[in-house]
Parts: sequence; C-alpha cells; structure tokens
Amino acid sequence: MNINDFDWSTLEPTEIVTEDKEVEAEFDIIVVGGGIAGLTAALYSARAGFSTLVLTGEIMSAVDFPGGQLMLTDSIVNYPGFTGKTGPELIETVMTQAESQGAALVEGRVESIDFNFRHNYHRVLCTDGRMFGGSKVILATGAIARRLGVGGENALYGRGVSSCATCDGEFAKGKKVAVIGGGDVAVEDALYLTKHAEHVYVIHRRDILRSQLPAARTLKEHPKVTMIWNSTVSEILGDTSVEGLVYETGPEVSSLDVEAVFVAIGHEPQNELAFDGSGGNVIDVHESGYLMAWGTRTSVPGVFVAGDIVDDKYRQAITAAASGAQAAIDATRELGAKGVEVDEDGNQIP
Ligand code: NAP
Repeated sequence: MNINDFDWSTLEPTEIVTEDKEVEAEFDIIVVGGGIAGLTAALYSARAGFSTLVLTGEIMSAVDFPGGQLMLTDSIVNYPGFTGKTGPELIETVMTQAESQGAALVEGRVESIDFNFRHNYHRVLCTDGRMFGGSKVILATGAIARRLGVGGENALYGRGVSSCATCDGEFAKGKKVAVIGGGDVAVEDALYLTKHAEHVYVIHRRDILRSQLPAARTLKEHPKVTMIWNSTVSEILGDTSVEGLVYETGPEVSSLDVEAVFVAIGHEPQNELAFDGSGGNVIDVHESGYLMAWGTRTSVPGVFVAGDIVDDKYRQAITAAASGAQAAIDATRELGAKGVEVDEDGNQIP
C-alpha cells in the first residue's frame, strides 16, 4: 500500500502499515526538532490532514532539550498576539495546538537518517533504537547560542543572562548591562540595548572588533557605551538574578556592577544530521554550518528545513514559526492535496 493513500486518521502511530517491518511506525511527514519551528510545521501538516510525527529531542544538557531556545525565555513581548507569557508557555500552547490537530509528539533524539532509503521514503533512527519511516522530513533542529562556560552563566540563564537582545531587551530597561563579544551580533545587540538600558558595557577579548559594520563605529562613539577591550569574563554573579560579573584583563581582575549579561559570541547550528558518519555531507551545508536551502527545500529531495538551522540572520521566534509553516506547506504540496476539502470547482474550502 502506498503510504500516501492510507487513511491515517484511523491509525495509532505505532502501527506498521507498509512492508518495512523494521520501522515502528510510518508517517507522511516526520519533523525533527520540537522547537517553535518544528511544532509550527507539525501544526500545519497535521491540520492539512497528513500524518505527522515530531521527534522533539531529549534533555541533553543545559542548552539542548525539547522545546528549543524558547524554553529559556522568561518573558515574550515581541510575538504577535502573545504578550506577557513565558517561552515555555508559548511552546506548550503550540504543542497542544499541534497535538489537537493530530500530530504525534514523541520525545526522542535522532541519531541518523537514511535519506531516500527508498524513493520518497526516509528512515529516521533514534538513539534509543526506535526507527520511523516518513515520506517527507522537515529538519528543524535549530542552533544553539555559544556559551562562555563560566560560573553562574548556566544557573542565571533566563534570569538576566541571555543570548538574544531582541527577545530579552526587557531585562535591560533602566539598568546597566554587559554585552560579550565583538562580532556583528554583539554590535547590533549592544546598540539595540542602548535604547533600553541606562548603560551598556561591551566586553571583547581583543582590542579590535571583528564586526566591520558601520554600526561598529557608532557603537564605540555612543555616549551610553563603554568598551572594555582585551578582556574575558570569568564569572557571572548572582543567586536568582544577575548582580554583576567578574572579568580579567591580562593578570588584572575587575568586577562590573551589571544586572543583565548578553552573550553574543556566535551560534552553533545543529547540523549533525546533514553529515554521514565518515565526515562527508549528505545535505549541502554552508561554510558557516547552516544548511543550504532553496526556499525551504534542501539539496536532498523530500527533505525540508525550518527555523534557526537555516537562519543565521533573523533568529526570532516569529521567523522560526513562519519558516515552519512554509516548510510544512511545501512538504504537503509535494505530497498532494490530501485532507484538503475542495468544492465542486476544485477550490479549497477554508
Ligand atoms: P561571529 O561573527 O562569529 O562573532 C563572534 C564574536 O564572539 C567574535 O568577536 C569572537 O571574538 C567572540 N567570541 C567567540 N567565542 C568567544 C569566547 N569564548 N569568549 C569571548 N568572546 C568570544 O558571530 P556573530 O556576531 O554571532 O555573527 C554570526 C554571523 O552573522 C557572522 O557571519 C556575521 O557577520 C553575521 N551577521 C551579520 C549581520 C549584518 O550583516 N547586519 C548582523 C548579524 C550577524 P574574536 O573576534 O576574537 O574571534
């Protein structure tokens, strides 16, 4: 039986419906990643009538867990229609929405994917040995903000330590804050924060910014900004909120009275699934590590991308959600119009 012809509404997701006995269940669409991009993709594909599995990931470390980066966001102020709530609340809401449309959300970490194991059929293997089959795969594994790896950083993440000034600028209102890094993001974040903060300290490990943006000069000359050169942060202070930080300039140790710390030292796209075990890549990847995409399509037929794994520019909850919707629409269009009700003239009934 063709997987696309099966009436998934009658099926528990653990049944096996093709001859591929090795897989636990088969789906029209498998979404890898349970952040806002993956969940939105699942919401759209399930809503369109396609059987959808989301492998949400597992708790791996302080920076890697189901729900993605929003799980570290205390207060959401820039997601349209969703004010004054937390990132976990937004994720929970979208999880419920996706499930209510029929998507199966399963905690599981994907180890590898046999892309096009058969034509239009991918096998997704989880680290616990479970294997799922899917006609289309949407990769939404995200990117993880690099951390300094200093004391206090993990404990205070979401409590004054942030890697997204646009998301967490609220922390900065009327306060003294620090931005760590010297790249474009650090420059843009620091300038953005001057609009909210009383004062912004930029701590950079060299004596020259990496950023070549014209904004870098504006930053250095800004009356609300103090540049601290040749310095590295060694500790972030505070019990339940940020109360300061310690930094080192050569042998000299100093402290700074700040109430928020924005770490802007780059991101690591979670691109492991684009590579085979021997180091070769199966999906085309930019030098920066972000996946290459044409719209939401990757270089592998039937495999789509959404969210921060493909976005080194915007990295916002709303842009990730939007790309999830786009990936699902592209994937479901390739599958056909299943589940879409049309009138006698062939027009979709809303
Ligand atoms: P980035 O360009 O890699 O800069 C990272 C910065 O963090 C560098 O200054 C680096 O120092 C510093 N750093 C790295 N690890 C550190 C550590 N452990 N401790 C202290 N400092 C550390 O990353 P990004 O700023 O996130 O930008 C990412 C990409 O997006 C870049 O290609 C950037 O050009 C692009 N982007 C472009 C725009 C724009 O065009 N408007 C805006 C945003 C981002 P060193 O300088 O010493 O290496």
